[in-house]
Amino acid sequence: MINLNEIKKIPAGTDKIQNILTIEKEVTLSILRLDKIDEDISGNKLFKLHYFLNDALSAQKRIITFGGAYSNHLAATAKSCKMLGIPCIGIVRGEKPKDLSHTLLFCLQHGMQLEFISRTDYKNINNPYPGKYFTRYENAVIIPEGGFSLKGAAGASLIYKYCINKDLTHICCPVGTGTTLAGLITSPGSETIIGFSAIKGQDDIDDRIHFLLGNAINKKYSVNQDYHFGGYAKKTGDLISFMNHFYREFSIPTDFVYTGKMMFGVFDSIKKNCFPPGSKILCIHTGGLQGNLSLPAGTLNF
Ligand SMILES: *Cc1c(COP(=O)(O)O)cnc(C)c1O
Repeated sequence: MINLNEIKKIPAGTDKIQNILTIEKEVTLSILRLDKIDEDISGNKLFKLHYFLNDALSAQKRIITFGGAYSNHLAATAKSCKMLGIPCIGIVRGEKPKDLSHTLLFCLQHGMQLEFISRTDYKNINNPYPGKYFTRYENAVIIPEGGFSLKGAAGASLIYKYCINKDLTHICCPVGTGTTLAGLITSPGSETIIGFSAIKGQDDIDDRIHFLLGNAINKKYSVNQDYHFGGYAKKTGDLISFMNHFYREFSIPTDFVYTGKMMFGVFDSIKKNCFPPGSKILCIHTGGLQGNLSLPAGTLNF
């Protein structure tokens, strides 16, 4: 298992992204390849899980967490727990379908026990914290959906160790629950953090950030809502052809739920002069590539 305390050894690395657009607009663009950490444990998920995994190990408790049928978070939790020998339960949103998704099959194969609950119950439980429903589980470390918690944000803030010494003006990341964004906001540097929301009409981001961080917000941040492509896990032909084009040009795979949308948004923002000349922009590739398996074969060129 990857030990985040020895962060320099993690196989991530940064790739430079340069083309006619970045040259014309005089910006420097690069991407932090957290997707390279592991093919199943999405880059940012490992960071968000870090302190929870440590808790479960040291207290010898099992882990209980939540997600939908295609959840990168469930897949990452299942594999991490398997590698560390931690028993885990995944509470899945919605009734059990006849055919399980590739993600849920993956979770089962990695020893995660699955429980299906109705969408209404699920919503009540994650509102925003898992409530008393789970008192029936003793000896468990409970991880809120997507790791949305101070502990999850503290883990995500470790990502910043990859961003120092790069003289950056902007750091971009995709936004789901906002936990990764919150973690980056707690970092010490003077960069502006820009989140790209993967969810339509996500107007509670500031509340989420305040919920997680209180008043410990010492960094400029903003959230761009213009690149959700119809909503969470929705896609358009434009998005898919952008992702294929991006792969052809830079050999970097993206996922259609988060990082593809963010990169589309970053390029479009550069085009629209949202970044002043001289900007040094780092995008965080948060992984999520397992989610592309839900697309029909041949949709993507990678
Ligand atoms: C879960 C996920 C996100 C969202 O992260 P949050 O911390 O919930 O905002 C972004 N990118 C990928 C690939 C993810 O799997």
